[in-house]
Amino acid sequence: MFIVTQANDYSILFESVKIGPVTARNRFYQVPHCNGMGHMHPRAEAMMRGIKAEGGWAVVSNQETEIHPSSDISPSAEGRIWDARDIPALRLMTDAVHEKGALAAVELAHNGSHSPNNFSRAAILAPSDQTSDNSYSRQAWGMDKSDIRAFREWHRAAALRARDAGFDVIYVYAGHHMTLLHQFLLPQYNTRTDEYGGSLENRTRLIREVLQDTREAVGDTCAVAMRLAVDEMAGPDGMQAHEEGRAVVEILADLPDLWDVNVAGWDNDSMTTRFEPKDGYQTPFIEFVKQVTQKPVVAVGRLGSADMMASLVRRGIVDFIGAARPSIADPFLPQKIEQGRIDEIRECIGCNICVMADNLCAPIRCTQNPTMGEEWRRGWHPERIEGKGQEEAALIVGAGPAGLECAMQLARRGYQVTLAEAGATPGGRVTRESSLKGLGAWQRVADYRIFDLQQRGNVQMFMQSNLSADEVIELGIGNVFIATGAKWRRDGKGRSALRGVPVSDQMPVLTPDDIMTGMTPGKGPVLIYDDDQAYLGGVLAEHLAAAGHEVIFVTPASMVSPFTEMTLEQSRVQASLLRLGVRIITGQALRAVGDDACEFACVYTGHPMRIACATTLLVTERRRDTVLYEALKDRGLSTLELIGDATAPGLIADAVYSGHMAARNFEKDPAEVEQQLFRREIIDLD
Ligand code: ADP
Ligand code: SF4
Repeated sequence: MFIVTQANDYSILFESVKIGPVTARNRFYQVPHCNGMGHMHPRAEAMMRGIKAEGGWAVVSNQETEIHPSSDISPSAEGRIWDARDIPALRLMTDAVHEKGALAAVELAHNGSHSPNNFSRAAILAPSDQTSDNSYSRQAWGMDKSDIRAFREWHRAAALRARDAGFDVIYVYAGHHMTLLHQFLLPQYNTRTDEYGGSLENRTRLIREVLQDTREAVGDTCAVAMRLAVDEMAGPDGMQAHEEGRAVVEILADLPDLWDVNVAGWDNDSMTTRFEPKDGYQTPFIEFVKQVTQKPVVAVGRLGSADMMASLVRRGIVDFIGAARPSIADPFLPQKIEQGRIDEIRECIGCNICVMADNLCAPIRCTQNPTMGEEWRRGWHPERIEGKGQEEAALIVGAGPAGLECAMQLARRGYQVTLAEAGATPGGRVTRESSLKGLGAWQRVADYRIFDLQQRGNVQMFMQSNLSADEVIELGIGNVFIATGAKWRRDGKGRSALRGVPVSDQMPVLTPDDIMTGMTPGKGPVLIYDDDQAYLGGVLAEHLAAAGHEVIFVTPASMVSPFTEMTLEQSRVQASLLRLGVRIITGQALRAVGDDACEFACVYTGHPMRIACATTLLVTERRRDTVLYEALKDRGLSTLELIGDATAPGLIADAVYSGHMAARNFEKDPAEVEQQLFRREIIDLD
């Protein structure tokens, strides 16, 4: 069934590499990444990491792991190694990773002024007195020499605990603007006048000391990794790779056993495809590192293509292929490359829904990989699914993300699958949304599934098949999944107008669906009213403005697309609209769409405002398409299930998840499904 399409030789990626006293079995390195589990859900994190090891990663890291109560970034659920009581939870992960033949790495972290200490209520520490970027109410104090000595001792003790927890690679972490060591390095945080401030040598001093402390403590058995952001991507206003970034690596050159290098802050390190479509975008910033050190180097930048990976190693740019997001989208990426199953790789789309979950302090999820975060609590494996039961066949109506995922998983389970789609091509909202500016990579969600379905002998796909209830019954398939999606409303109903608003029939009113299916506004200003406040309103404004339309963007929110703060994109979204000349009006709720203008009320005072426009584009709320589902009720089907946006409009990730869930649960006793729900890690009251 699987086709080997790559004749290329990737054997270089499967060479083992020594990291100090330990050896990685190949060059695939899952760098630390947050996942909203950490100390709150240790079993869930352990199994998720274990599955990465099973998928072939040679090194599997956890996430930033707080070394002391003065580094407490709750409510975010990061790793925690404050004292010996944290060891058993971390041991779950190292055991799971070792069981599958990989090395386990721990990213020890002190978050400095980024640490709000909400739970511990400890003083916030920083190189110098300053505000905290993670607390509105409390400032950080500049550490004196005794604080620095104490910090070094905490880090040393944490390294020993990490070794006792079974970790093979122990990080010293200076990156993302989020760590004390990075803050000591950067002059905007460090204004000290003693031997820890001023010159670069002085600002690097604490990193050097902590590297030496860690080596002395655990260096005989564990590798010591240095994670450094070599460039702040701020041009001359920040640290630059070819200037101070390089100088830091030169100063510390062979002190660590491994260099893990990237760019800062997190929004640059985890850039979305919307704003950085090029995979491998960090390479120009880190390519100097191997010229400066003898030690192995790992780097990231959405390195998902096997050809690019092999080329980076051959060209002597990296020793390890680092990945966070590509390993989330496909935990089995290394194994698939090794086995020549390149076409089966689920490529990351660079949407940062994984990042969103962490920012929500919720367990990780992924648009492409619906099993991510569900490995322990639901027992979902990314590559394996239970075989079919008694039933033989299933019909899925609608080939959007929910229908495609459901069809693919049912086919994997062994059913005869029929997938019917009204449109000319499969993809649904994925194909529609990826036609918009910046979202092209999202089409991978559909492409991966369509390709998979096309390889299978037990799948039939019918396009341009807008099925009625009678036609569904005539097909004679007793198990039917309805994935008919949702459409954007045209009546203004949304979070700020629960009953909708009056809409004049003189005003041309468009919805996102109109634009995504190729309609363009006529002459004159287009007013986009975004009451959805997620991402699409901002995308449409950018899309239309870039196409030359005069765009007025109005929202009840206080910024454009507030949701995109969680995907680390908001400032780029707003900047892009401003650069394109979009007029942005915030804090206004739509009250009526008139003949040639829209009427608004200030969300605070109710003060009215009128804005003239030639076209209105309403981005407010979606209406579920359940017509077929309703018509099929009481028609004697064995299974009739609504999935995806037709159940509850949400993210593409939610639609994929819903389709996956339905396929997993098909033929299970609903009472059992309801009762089992999912496993939880409940605090032991003993
Ligand atoms: P989801 O996100 O839940 O997958 P989408 O809106 O992306 O939903 O996809 C729903 C798909 O269902 C669309 O491509 C639409 O054309 C298709 N569809 C809707 N009604 C029918 C129908 N009666 N027969 C076949 N396809 C349908
Ligand atoms: Fe990639 Fe999006 Fe999955 Fe994150 S959620 S790993 S960005 S596809």
